[in-house]
Amino acid sequence: MELSRGVYLLRAAANVTLVTEPEVTLFDAGSSHDGPRLLKQLQAIGIAPDRIQKIVLTHSDWRHAGGAHWLALTSGADVFSSQPAAAILGQHASPGKLRTLRATLLGRRAPPVTPSILRDSDEVAGFRVIEVPGHTADSLAFFRPADGILVVGDAARVAGMDILPPNFWRSSSELTGRRSLAILAQLPTEILIPGHGPAYRLPQRALRAVAGPPGFADSLITRREQRVHSTRRS
Ligand SMILES: [Zn+2]
Repeated sequence: MELSRGVYLLRAAANVTLVTEPEVTLFDAGSSHDGPRLLKQLQAIGIAPDRIQKIVLTHSDWRHAGGAHWLALTSGADVFSSQPAAAILGQHASPGKLRTLRATLLGRRAPPVTPSILRDSDEVAGFRVIEVPGHTADSLAFFRPADGILVVGDAARVAGMDILPPNFWRSSSELTGRRSLAILAQLPTEILIPGHGPAYRLPQRALRAVAGPPGFADSLITRREQRVHSTRRS
């Protein structure tokens, strides 16, 4: 589905965003079983695999990053991720373990990849990199000022008219996640593309509602840190 000029939402275990300009880039790669399905969707748009130049990962979860190895091999594209995601994705599976085998068969584990590292405020394929820890510590979002496209991975969830913070039981830190949403709420976003489900047009108000007033998450984090300090002292 074309969301905006040259911006497409592709279906896989998680959303994959295709951006055709200035260079053909995929944001996320689906699971390790999604490669052929993604190529078919690209073909329908008229993109041959060897035209993919970059595969940019929002975080290291298998639904988002598992397909990176296969897609990079097939297309010759370069893979990019945050430093902590690269550390996870570069690990070799320990051989002979039943759990690893099962995970591989289920598409939850793929051969290792060695992404190039992206940091906050870097630029990749015309997008600004924003570190958005919370859902995972290795999460990144990507914003393109030219047309207000914001790719957030699982840093935010779309539920009807609402935007929700990451699932707290699956997240490394809910408060950090809210602080990340507060950062995203400040951007002049036209279309927010989450890791799952439909895109959200003009999300600023919904993002502000979930992030709370300016400085809210920060004040909660500070209060919690003070509490931890005082319990340690007593
Ligand atoms: Zn996900």
